[in-house]
Amino acid sequence: MDAMSGAASAGAAVKADAYGIGARVAVPVLRDAGCRDFFVTYAHEAADLIGLVPPRSISLLHGPINDGVARWARETGVRVVINSLEQAARWLEAGGGTCDLMVDTGINRLGLPLAQLGDPLIGRLEIDILMSHLASADEDVSLNARQCARWQEARNLVPHRRSSLANSAGIALGQDYHGDLTRPGLALYGGVPRSIFEGRIAQVARPMAAVMQVRDIEAGEGVGYNATFIAPSPMRVGVVALGYADGFLRCWSGGKGGLLWKGRRLPVLGRVSMDMVDVDLAGAQDLREGDWLELDYSLPEAALSSGLSQYELLTLLGDRFAR
Ligand SMILES: *Cc1c(COP(=O)(O)O)cnc(C)c1O
Repeated sequence: MDAMSGAASAGAAVKADAYGIGARVAVPVLRDAGCRDFFVTYAHEAADLIGLVPPRSISLLHGPINDGVARWARETGVRVVINSLEQAARWLEAGGGTCDLMVDTGINRLGLPLAQLGDPLIGRLEIDILMSHLASADEDVSLNARQCARWQEARNLVPHRRSSLANSAGIALGQDYHGDLTRPGLALYGGVPRSIFEGRIAQVARPMAAVMQVRDIEAGEGVGYNATFIAPSPMRVGVVALGYADGFLRCWSGGKGGLLWKGRRLPVLGRVSMDMVDVDLAGAQDLREGDWLELDYSLPEAALSSGLSQYELLTLLGDRFAR
């Protein structure tokens, strides 16, 4: 990501436990690879990273959402992103100091509209990163260029040290979108938001689950809740310690999902339960209780077959998976 960011440096979005990968695992790896800017959403996510990276290198995307967070950020040195005039006032009230500023250039989420950038409160901020966020960087649409132009305009209006616009997909939009710092998330964790990344992004998450029991069932027997699968003939099935509470959602029920064993795909039988799912062992006669299966987590393909986004597939991985 850093190489693809040209003259800009790549920071890292590590919010939501580094997209489910485990922030305490991912952040030291990113740090050792040279990453110096980390973005989380909430203060408790930042608190989790103190000791792994300098507090100054962590920025809270939701900003000083209340006086407590503003004070805490001042005390620890964690950076805040100012998203509104209210947050600017709160930050200055708490004592101020270096912060980042989010400008809304067309996504209509958090961030100040360009029209508010002349407000005297903004003039009193000491801004490190002047940032904005792209709505459709994974598509070729005119909104990208419009947002880029507004962000350039904001750069001319507000004094700042560094500027930042691109997320993972935005990095592929070229130099005009890079500024001083890019903020990839998804692509760091194996997501492929644009075809240009194909072959350059390796799979990162390889969730695994163990076969707890092997059962032989008769023709006519049902499998799982509501017996949505009925064995057409005698079958050998595996009961796997994996369920929707782990993020293996019910959309994988009934053969839509499969678990991998020695490169072979074992189809899901019946419904996914909270803690268990059955798979067909017809293709795995030599499998034994205690063997481990891998979820099919090549993200672009898994997203297509599940209807979930690559982001969802990562962030829904439950905390019962050891990282
Ligand atoms: C989540 C987020 C990112 C990272 O986006 P990806 O699409 O995962 O690369 C960057 N910037 C902001 C403000 C974000 O909220």
